Amino acid sequence: MKRVEGKVAVVTGGALGIGRAACLLLAREGARVAVTDIIDKEGGEVVEEIRRSGGLAQYWHVDTSNEDEVRDAFSNIASEFGSIDILVNNAGIAGVNKPTHEVYEEEWDKVMGVNVKGVFFCTKHAIPCMKKAGGGSIINMSSIYGIIGAADLPPYHASKGAVRLMTKNDALLYGKDNIRVNSIHPGFIWTPLVQELAKDSPDGVGAFRDQLDSLHPIGHVGEPEDIAFGVLYLASDESRFVTGSELVIDGGYTAQ
Ligand code: NAP
Repeated sequence: MKRVEGKVAVVTGGALGIGRAACLLLAREGARVAVTDIIDKEGGEVVEEIRRSGGLAQYWHVDTSNEDEVRDAFSNIASEFGSIDILVNNAGIAGVNKPTHEVYEEEWDKVMGVNVKGVFFCTKHAIPCMKKAGGGSIINMSSIYGIIGAADLPPYHASKGAVRLMTKNDALLYGKDNIRVNSIHPGFIWTPLVQELAKDSPDGVGAFRDQLDSLHPIGHVGEPEDIAFGVLYLASDESRFVTGSELVIDGGYTAQ
């Protein structure tokens, strides 16, 4: 028996990076996967890859900051696949990197719109399906930057801190419905999001990566699969007694 055999998983931001790795692994372990994102070509490619390996997947365009898109897509996913058992609230953006007193309101709102409101909209529209199915697992992608500060990216830190607490509150609200809600807190993972930050670095990509590696006691940054295995555990029934918890996967970054 595969670890999430027969379950239906929705992954937001599933076209690249951590979301992509989560889609591939959940499908390999038997889930039917709704790959959702705003970049349709790359999202379609993830679906093709899953199907080539014998898995079941379909792509939906979902901007998580747009409630109408979330509502329509989740309703289509539930009728196409029969239910929603697993929601991976993964879509997120880094936003501007400047000190708090220089951040414009629009820049603040943009990050909150995706990283916080997106999690709210997706959770809101997945819960009725999960209640109908008799339970479910929601996995919210926070960050080590939802636990500690780093003197950069002010809206991002605020957003990831909010996701950490939304997770605990929803865990309390929906425990009686057999819906578990947990957060994952990755250290630096070498994904397109971080590669973009590297490209903007005045020191160059190589030096940027060396610097990031040195921040993690284990000696290097993580790969998307390192987080996908955490997603799989929280998605599966192996974690049936786990809710409201924070799964830190950070190569020791926050142990210091
Ligand atoms: P990524 O490589 O940028 O991939 C994220 C995907 O989400 C991209 O396809 C992106 O599209 C998409 N996306 C952006 N805005 C969206 C929206 N409004 N609706 C739906 N999809 C949207 O990011 P990642 O590094 O894999 O990060 C995934 C999650 O992990 C994020 O929540 C991030 O904050 C969190 N995280 C990452 C790290 C890390 O080091 N990588 C560490 C801690 C936490 P575009 O490419 O068009 O933006």
